[in-house]
Amino acid sequence: MGFSAALQGEMGHAAVLGRQDAELRLLDTMRRILVARAKCDREYSAALTQLARTADKMDSPDPLLDDSKLHKAWRVMVDGLEDWSNTMRENADTLVADTVEKLVALITEKRASRKVYYEEHQRITNEVSRLQEAVGKARAYYEQTLELYKSSKTKYEDQFLKGKPGRRLDELKERYQKACRKLHQMHNDYVLLLCEAADYERDFRTVLLPGLLEYQERVQEDMVDKWRSILLEVWELTDTSKGRYSEIQAEVGSAVNAISSRTEYSAFSEENKSSPPEPVTFEFCSDLLGDGVGSLQPGRLAVDSLTVDSLRLRLTDIEHRLKEVMAELREKQNLLNQHETEVATIRKGMGAGGVGGMFQESPHLASRLPVLKRASDVLHRELNELRCKESWLQHQHSLIHDPLAALGCEDPPTNQPWETTHVNGDSTCKSKSLLSLNFAHQRDSLSLKSRSTAIKELLRKPFSRWEDQAGTEEPVGPPPTTSPADQHSLNDLAITPDGATTPVDHPQATSPAIPNASGMLLCPGGPGGAINGIPELTYDPDRCLEDEPWFHGVLPREEVVRLLVEEGHYLVRETTRNDEQQIVLSVCWGSHKHFIVQTTPEGHYRFEGPAFPTIQELILYQHQCGLPVTNKSGAILRTPIFRERWELNNDDVELREKIGRGNFGDVYKARLRDSGLEVAVKTCRVTLPDEQKKKFLQEGRILKQYDHPNIVRFIGICVQKQPIMIVMELVPGGSLLSFVRNHKGQLTVKQMMGMCLDTASGMAYLESKNCIHRDLAARNCLVGHRNSVKISDFGMSREEEEYYVSDGMKQIPIKWTAPEALNFGKYTSLCDVWSYGVLCWEIFSSGEVPYHGYSNTKAREMIDTGYRMQAPINTPDTMYQLMLKCWQYDPDNRPHFPEIYSSVHDIYLSL
Ligand code: ADP
Repeated sequence: MGFSAALQGEMGHAAVLGRQDAELRLLDTMRRILVARAKCDREYSAALTQLARTADKMDSPDPLLDDSKLHKAWRVMVDGLEDWSNTMRENADTLVADTVEKLVALITEKRASRKVYYEEHQRITNEVSRLQEAVGKARAYYEQTLELYKSSKTKYEDQFLKGKPGRRLDELKERYQKACRKLHQMHNDYVLLLCEAADYERDFRTVLLPGLLEYQERVQEDMVDKWRSILLEVWELTDTSKGRYSEIQAEVGSAVNAISSRTEYSAFSEENKSSPPEPVTFEFCSDLLGDGVGSLQPGRLAVDSLTVDSLRLRLTDIEHRLKEVMAELREKQNLLNQHETEVATIRKGMGAGGVGGMFQESPHLASRLPVLKRASDVLHRELNELRCKESWLQHQHSLIHDPLAALGCEDPPTNQPWETTHVNGDSTCKSKSLLSLNFAHQRDSLSLKSRSTAIKELLRKPFSRWEDQAGTEEPVGPPPTTSPADQHSLNDLAITPDGATTPVDHPQATSPAIPNASGMLLCPGGPGGAINGIPELTYDPDRCLEDEPWFHGVLPREEVVRLLVEEGHYLVRETTRNDEQQIVLSVCWGSHKHFIVQTTPEGHYRFEGPAFPTIQELILYQHQCGLPVTNKSGAILRTPIFRERWELNNDDVELREKIGRGNFGDVYKARLRDSGLEVAVKTCRVTLPDEQKKKFLQEGRILKQYDHPNIVRFIGICVQKQPIMIVMELVPGGSLLSFVRNHKGQLTVKQMMGMCLDTASGMAYLESKNCIHRDLAARNCLVGHRNSVKISDFGMSREEEEYYVSDGMKQIPIKWTAPEALNFGKYTSLCDVWSYGVLCWEIFSSGEVPYHGYSNTKAREMIDTGYRMQAPINTPDTMYQLMLKCWQYDPDNRPHFPEIYSSVHDIYLSL
């Protein structure tokens, strides 16, 4: 719609002028910018030309690249660059010479049209004003003339009535007639003027003004078309996706598409064919030894008293490296398998939905495929390298191991040490200097108060069977009873231990027993009561095996290995093999050796030596006699290792009421019989396989080291018998998840912030201890007095700075887990930071399910594409900003827990 009909008023007139002024300003801006744009394009074109020439100079012809499609594509790109630059310069020239000129002409035309419109409008409105003024004046004159007429008429009539004819009457008559004539003329003039003014005014409104606007509208529309065509020209001259530009791109595109990884090197390898390198032989130069140097022989290891120690050291080192290599191999192979499974799943999806199907729904899958392929290629290469390494290490191993074994110093070669991560329990090697492990660390004390009392009791009661020999300098002789089975070799009864684990410090431990110089516990009796330096043990027939301080129940082997750190350390434990309960003596002698206690047909107990009616007597004998448990192992019992402070008796704990159900079994409220302390006890179902039981105890092992108000406190484990149990402080409020759900709408923002603060404090402590929780979530925290939060459930935790999972991810809590852990199995404390963000969200949402309504897979996909949960109602904005920081995709961009703690603390204080 045009403007002529609508803009006849004064305001409309001002608007028409204003609009034209604005358009003139815009035209002027365009002119300036287009000139500047053309200048930029010319400069850019000059830079591109320069670049193309430099590329030309640098790319000197190389016959080795003659057939390369990669090189050809590059050449097309460089040529295209110059072409591109020329096109750009030409267009810039046209822009200035042609288009900008048109723009200048339009500006001039527009200015002129504005002037014409303004003046014409002025002229016709002035005419109306002039007529108005004339009418006003005429009216005033009319009034004067009328007055004159009236007075001359009155005067004449008065004289006439007096009846005095004469000169005076004639004069008045003449004046009267003159005034009358003037009035009549005036009247006619006034009438005609009014008619003219009225006609003009009507024409002004209905013809002149609309006509002027209509004319102006047509002029403006004409200029709009011109303006549009100028803009079209600009668009075309600057469009790099059309014309010559698109031709250049098409040429480059087809050159790039001609590249194929399969054919790129075909011609090249055909032309440069050559045979593989000649093998280099590394042989012992026999000239070196000349006529002979002692017993040294070319190319053969010298195994003698001079080298045996160093060879063993080498062997140990090689075994260690082999273990590492094989662990790495396993880990990488697992990772590779995972990648391959994932690739297959993605491909299958592509097959079903087609590239456009599945990939449209989950665009991140499209980018995942090349990432996986690349990672798999790297893994293949690394695996090859590791296999080579494994092979030459094995070769070196057999080179050293076999002659040592032939000397009788090593295990038989059938039992390769690295294959089972243990050595044969009956090794005959006596080289303690090489094999002894040297861990210097503090040990927890053995017992609770009652237990130490029992030990003191033992000290007072000498072992009755050997009473008369106690205190003698010589090792005691064999007991009076021997059986034919005594002669039987026990070699095949030794069970194999796991590899050594790193010992852990227990700084909080208090030791009622007597520590020796290295902080280890000596057995009761101490050095004073020793026979040949061997501490004395006593036997109480009223005390059962479970009450012996050195009996550790079903303590897992990892723990056992961790406890036995010096030569001669030993303990007794229970294990189940093929559903049969066995009592095992574990000894540190070189490596860790485990001997199953044998039962004679008479129901007595023995190793290689004499049999005894009770296991306590057997152990006491073995401890006091100073003879090896088996000849082959040479293992001698020197120091019994007592139960640690946290190894409680099952009977010490009285289960009262079930308060929860965990993954491994029920959780109970319980009471410690000794102290009456109320505790929580997690039990492990008796029917679970050993592997699961070990996992169950893992939580205890981790918790044992921590002491913090926001970490649930560990009290002990009960492994004397089934069911095994973990005892910990009773946290009365139950799980944080149920707590926030049950208190929906009742908690203040400050209280919720307090919970976030507690959790951050506990997590900062864990991070300082290099502990990655891996399952931080509201369901795994507990609520204590005054709403304090305690982090619990350390079943998945790891004490490492960085931890990779390679055994599948079946039980991963997807919605709480950071993307790098889900995608690459990489866990650090920064993954816990991600989970912390989700946990805070759970608190503020009163325990809603995160990513509510989305499946795990969908939530994972959404996160990968940048989605983050909204802030629940009432979340302080600063807290929500912190959650978003915790959910940064790149872990390096997330804050660490100490920083989180201080931010949460500030927010808490600000409320
Ligand atoms: P699991 O780790 O085996 O899954 P949880 O640690 O989740 O077991 O415990 C299961 C439930 O038992 C918890 O949700 C909680 O209600 C209760 N519970 C666990 N530990 C304690 C404790 N120390 N104090 C009070 N209740 C506890």
